[in-house]
Amino acid sequence: MGRIPYPLLQTWKSIIHSTPSPFLLSLPKLELHVHLEGTLSPTLRFALARRNHIPLTSARLNKTFTSVEELQEAYQLLEPPSVKGPGVSAFFEAYYGGMECLREERDFYELSMEYFTRASSMGVRYCEVMFDPQAHTRRGVSIPVLMSGLRRAQLEAEEKLNVKVQFIMCILRDAPLASALQHYKSTALPYRHMIAGIGLDSNEFQHPPSIFAALFARAKRDGFKTTAHSDVAQPDAHVHLKQILTEPLLLDRVDHGLDAALSRELIALLNGRGEGF
Ligand SMILES: [Zn+2]
Repeated sequence: MGRIPYPLLQTWKSIIHSTPSPFLLSLPKLELHVHLEGTLSPTLRFALARRNHIPLTSARLNKTFTSVEELQEAYQLLEPPSVKGPGVSAFFEAYYGGMECLREERDFYELSMEYFTRASSMGVRYCEVMFDPQAHTRRGVSIPVLMSGLRRAQLEAEEKLNVKVQFIMCILRDAPLASALQHYKSTALPYRHMIAGIGLDSNEFQHPPSIFAALFARAKRDGFKTTAHSDVAQPDAHVHLKQILTEPLLLDRVDHGLDAALSRELIALLNGRGEGF
């Protein structure tokens, strides 16, 4: 199975964006896989960095960004295959680097509303939005600051944009289990009225889902839905997928998981469960 060259994918994307179909736009839609922090546009990132007096730099590119255009250009260089393997990839540098400008309640509110407004314009009527609390607490942002910004936007999206929102609290798999359990207690339990499920994301390399068995067992007992990323073409993708699809983890959903197509055993497991991915 050959990989489609990334520049070609980018070309297709820009063709779709420049020639929107009125019919497709008019259809009501569900969005089941979106990372809130990943929706941060270069324009909003630049504005928030200014407001919060945070320099916009890239260690990888050894560069400080002084204009929105420069920042936009850096995003064009991202290639999803760079996610694989150890170390900080271009993708994760942009993802986590973007979060640096998120400090106050209103920053999280504006980030959320920027996405919900865009989603509404695309006909999205219901979305399950992933977010990474650990990526904020480790920068000194408190859970109440984060969650009140998200809550304000969640209520406003439903009331003014006709977009119903539920959140999926994702655990960073490259952080320790103890941190996952701590954030489950500090975020998922007190804010369960906002949170539909518990997910698993970040760098999958050498971080199998089984590390987080205790977390998922607890979440299931408490009535949360569960899901985990299985990123495309990761080493050990089939081992990780089998963990997700069988006891003791047996999660409700797989994010991505496309490598299952190369395994009859995994396809049979997915068929048997009616699993979505
Ligand atoms: Zn994802």
